[in-house]
Amino acid sequence: MEKKILVTKSSMPSLEEYVDEIRDLWDSCWLTNEGAKLQKLEQSLGEYLEVPYVSCVSNGHMALELGLQAMRLEGEVITTPFTVASTTNAILRNGLQPVFCDIKPDDFTMDETMLESLITDRTCAILPVHVYGNVCNVTEIDRIAKKHGLKVIYDAAHAFGVRYLGKSIAQYGDAVMYSFHATKVYQAVEGGAVCYRHPETLHYLNALKIYGIQNPEEVVGVGANGKMNEFEAAMGLCNLRHIAQEIEKRKRIAQYYDEQLGNIPGLQINVRQAQTQGNYAYYPLVVHETECGFTRNELLDRLAAHQIFGRKYFYPLTSSFQCYHQAFQPERTPTALHISRRVLALPLYASLSMEDASRICTIIRSMCGLTAERGE
Ligand SMILES: *Cc1c(COP(=O)(O)O)cnc(C)c1O
Repeated sequence: MEKKILVTKSSMPSLEEYVDEIRDLWDSCWLTNEGAKLQKLEQSLGEYLEVPYVSCVSNGHMALELGLQAMRLEGEVITTPFTVASTTNAILRNGLQPVFCDIKPDDFTMDETMLESLITDRTCAILPVHVYGNVCNVTEIDRIAKKHGLKVIYDAAHAFGVRYLGKSIAQYGDAVMYSFHATKVYQAVEGGAVCYRHPETLHYLNALKIYGIQNPEEVVGVGANGKMNEFEAAMGLCNLRHIAQEIEKRKRIAQYYDEQLGNIPGLQINVRQAQTQGNYAYYPLVVHETECGFTRNELLDRLAAHQIFGRKYFYPLTSSFQCYHQAFQPERTPTALHISRRVLALPLYASLSMEDASRICTIIRSMCGLTAERGE
């Protein structure tokens, strides 16, 4: 029986490093609510992400949901349906209306050329996704937002550590949200963060994440419980020390995939964007069946027969979820619809061995009638 290879695997610090980090919690017995670990993490993240205002929360979804609430928005939010349920749900759970913009076929981010046609007098914000760690056209989105007086909140759940034009992507937008879920490039078991351009919004978020409590006698917002605890913050502190090596290891595998799977008719690999330092969060592969002769699902099935499990990431589009009762029309974002029916994510994580990556490529290449491995 071949060993199972899943699409991702969490990177862990050594047990000793983590135990060292949590040891003093047994002295303080302070486990959550603005603890010392959390404060240290927020400060370290501010330095790493090159932003002055960072607030850590319990998970990426709460970062989005409370992060939006803290911006006091009303009306329509332009976003994309090529994302996880969390992005669209965060908009709806704030009583806001999502308006879906299509994506670009090469990097799968919001097609900014369509943005202006979707702006109405009810539009209050734009919520694009740096999907797979690919950077949205931040310059153009920023220009359009300024012109129309809109806020920009980036879903950067996939993009921890990504840099564009020499700056951390946390510096682009009014707010940037990260997820530190176990499956992300940078993990704190569960966790997330919001970076804001303005300190007032950060202060409001800090109240909202403890039910809206600003001080013992004042509740200033209808908040929730969005606190990150000290054990998660400790995991975050440990993993932040290794983030550069984490990204480097992922890069090696992604580059190998590029070499082996690039320039094959019918297989579309992820673009490597110019002036961008990527984080290699995912390895999306688009299968154009009319050119290669097999479908995305057939490729996934073939891999699964070898105990290798990719994922249909993202399928279906959020705009087609049954819980929304056909309130949205997925056909209005034809590129997103086309890609979601053909895309999959291949296994990619720091501890994936070259041997396993080679096995995966050999299976895919043989489906294309190619030899096992492309030489140097
Ligand atoms: C993971 C993810 C989220 C939600 O983050 P959680 O920490 O899992 O709650 C939101 N948006 C995108 C694009 C994600 O990948």
